[in-house]
Amino acid sequence: MSKNCILCDKKLSFWNQPVFGKGILKSHERICSSCFMKVNNKSPKTAANLKRYESTEIKELLDSNKNTQTVKNSIGFQVTVTTPVETDTKIDSGKWEIVHRKTQRWTELGFGDNDKFPGYGKLYEREFEVWYCDIGSKNRKGIQKFSDKYPLNYDPRDYQKIVGEGVYVEALTNSRGYEALYTALDNKNRKRWYLALISKKPLWIETERAIEKEVETKKKIEIKVPEGWNLVQNHSKEWKALGYNNGFPGYGKIHEVTFDVWYCNVGSKEKNELTELKTELAIYKDDNLYYFERVYKQLNELKDAHLNFDRLTRTNGYEQLYSTTSKKKRWYLGVKEMTPRYIFTAGAD
Ligand SMILES: [Zn+2]
Repeated sequence: MSKNCILCDKKLSFWNQPVFGKGILKSHERICSSCFMKVNNKSPKTAANLKRYESTEIKELLDSNKNTQTVKNSIGFQVTVTTPVETDTKIDSGKWEIVHRKTQRWTELGFGDNDKFPGYGKLYEREFEVWYCDIGSKNRKGIQKFSDKYPLNYDPRDYQKIVGEGVYVEALTNSRGYEALYTALDNKNRKRWYLALISKKPLWIETERAIEKEVETKKKIEIKVPEGWNLVQNHSKEWKALGYNNGFPGYGKIHEVTFDVWYCNVGSKEKNELTELKTELAIYKDDNLYYFERVYKQLNELKDAHLNFDRLTRTNGYEQLYSTTSKKKRWYLGVKEMTPRYIFTAGAD
């Protein structure tokens, strides 16, 4: 799809395209609002049925300095003098597309800040009839029409271009049969302006505030899970199912660790109660283990203790060796094997 008007090459945006895809030609090229108006002035029927025509045919129509009657003769268009262009019953089945500020779609539509700001809400193309009365008179003067693309509850867009700088509109509660009626008093020039909403068409675009802030907050609590590892958070169902309530395994890469466990009485080097224990623990930097509760809880003598173990430099042939003292006994945990479980534990949100 071309992003420029096929006739005048103007960059197309939300603001300068005819609504409801009325500016789309047979080969899916598009034309801008002002080119559409030109076509409509030449031949309303052609404008109403643009998608039946190729761009060359439309160019030919516009290039001809002839009115609609001669167009019929030269390139065989059917011509009627006034054709309502707007009616298309399919339009009513449209759905509102929600577009957030600061998204790609927002930019794509040509939305921005200040004069490019489309307002927040359901956008409509609104047509206003504008006139003024000299103060003390009821004669309508300077009757003109203008349209904007705005939510219904917004004041007419750029109305000061018509009523003058420093003149402000207010909505009248009694809209006198119009969809909405605004008035503005220009004291200096002794004029009272009226802006009456005479038609509105949904554009099926609903604008909303940026969601950026929510996204940022989410990023802050985002946990970096290593590739190939599955996140299990504390207080989750999985956490419970894996038995991690039964002694904290630590946060990180969970491994199944096999220990040789023994103790020596203080002052002796004789190994007592040599047993093998297996449990799941998280490993940290340099493969350190910190939480041994899950290990010593399995031993009757230590299950109610609260122990901290130190990692020993001399490992006696084990991958790692940890040690602590309790009740005149020196306990040893020798790591024989560590197998990754591919479970990555982390705190709850
Ligand atoms: Zn154009």
